[in-house]
Amino acid sequence: MDSSRTQTPREKLEAWLRYYDDLNLGAFYTDRRTMGNRQIHRAALNATPAELPRVPPAVLPAIAVAPPPLPKAVPPKLQTPAPVIALPVVNPSSLFEAIDRVENDSLERIREDLGECTRCRLHKQRNKIVFGQGNPHAELVFVGEGPGHDEDIQGLAFVGRAGKLLTQMIEAMGLTRDDVYICNVVKCRPPENRKPEEDEVATCSPYLFRQLDVIKPKAIVCLGGTAAQALLKTKDSISRFRGTWFDYRGTKLLATYHPAYLLRNPAAKADVWQDLKKVMAQLGLKKK
Ligand code: SF4
Repeated sequence: MDSSRTQTPREKLEAWLRYYDDLNLGAFYTDRRTMGNRQIHRAALNATPAELPRVPPAVLPAIAVAPPPLPKAVPPKLQTPAPVIALPVVNPSSLFEAIDRVENDSLERIREDLGECTRCRLHKQRNKIVFGQGNPHAELVFVGEGPGHDEDIQGLAFVGRAGKLLTQMIEAMGLTRDDVYICNVVKCRPPENRKPEEDEVATCSPYLFRQLDVIKPKAIVCLGGTAAQALLKTKDSISRFRGTWFDYRGTKLLATYHPAYLLRNPAAKADVWQDLKKVMAQLGLKKK
């Protein structure tokens, strides 16, 4: 093939496919609509070689920034017409970030904007909105899924049994709850502690985004899949990316298991401790 002429779109696509195939990355063109371009690139570029197999499938395609040049000889298997694959439409995440951001924002203003919120159905059975609490200048923010029974009564995040375990986790890192900020994706308790619905997360999470923008922590730890899925805009299971660093609007983000899950599965505490040690290393913390 004459390498000096301009590649057709089909030739470029074939080159991409061949490149991923050479890297043994497998099929890459599914389930990637929900993760923003910038997050994909940063997550993949931040991953170490050892972490690559655990990067969500949505991330893998972005490992290469530019397609490789076409080789001179086309392998026989590519001489048959390639299937027509719709290239994914990835929305520019910066657009959404711009929409979420509020000039001169503050935690007080966000709380004020929430008011006695009735924006989603979760308001119907709640007792108190659980906005979040802790150090407004925290270097570390923990994000959970939503309030439970005790939190709903007290209006405070992570104060039940799972909260006590979270306190132990924080103290094991050499910190106190006053050093960190703790909040949830949804601010009202889902009935029967069910998972928040997609539309409830979509309605409430912009307030979380604003909280994180105001606090500007050095690291975010997502407790459980719902928090990670909301911030990374993915539907992948947490087991696919737990313990891997991602980029969230310029802040390092790592997902680990929710303390409530640890209460049911104590054996998973060892995995969580490994994750927390990564966070400690990232923040330059030494166990006291
Ligand atoms: S969960 Fe969030 S959006 Fe829904 S009512 Fe409560 S504060 Fe409002």
